[in-house]
Amino acid sequence: MTIGRPDSLAPLHAAVNHETRRLHVLHAERLHCRRGCSSCCVDGLTVFDVEGEPIRRHHAELLRTGTPHVQGACAFLDGEGACRIYPQRPYVCRTQGLPLRWIDERNGQPVELRDICPLNEAGEPIEHLTVEACWTLGPFEERLARLQLAAGAASTRTGLRNLFATK
Ligand code: SF4
Repeated sequence: MTIGRPDSLAPLHAAVNHETRRLHVLHAERLHCRRGCSSCCVDGLTVFDVEGEPIRRHHAELLRTGTPHVQGACAFLDGEGACRIYPQRPYVCRTQGLPLRWIDERNGQPVELRDICPLNEAGEPIEHLTVEACWTLGPFEERLARLQLAAGAASTRTGLRNLFATK
């Protein structure tokens, strides 16, 4: 599948980076996210092709000759727990570790749920944080879906591990 404009994803990733930088500064004392910590790099993450295509384009050699990390963790992790596609890592990877909030539904009523990596739990209870101090799931996922549709592609997702198989 060919995604229309190669750079169509860049403004979205830039906006995500801008906002996550703000949150990393705000939560600097509680966040333990750093190179080598790969607790969030689970197996089975998927991407729309609008995010998969830049990975294929920028990391063709890795996908052609490299070896995926053994199953049980993300295929793109290296032996030191670092990401081998860091500049092109998907949206979801850019928000890992932050206090997350999202709207779910219980008994027909919207409810707000929150979560954070256990390694970053210590500190002010995330239930007490303002909305602006959390990463809200939903808006960027919708923007990604719209980008995918604007590229004329179906809303199907590909496992990161499968990118190695589709070189
Ligand atoms: S793509 Fe990179 S940052 Fe994202 S889960 Fe895989 S190794 Fe981790």
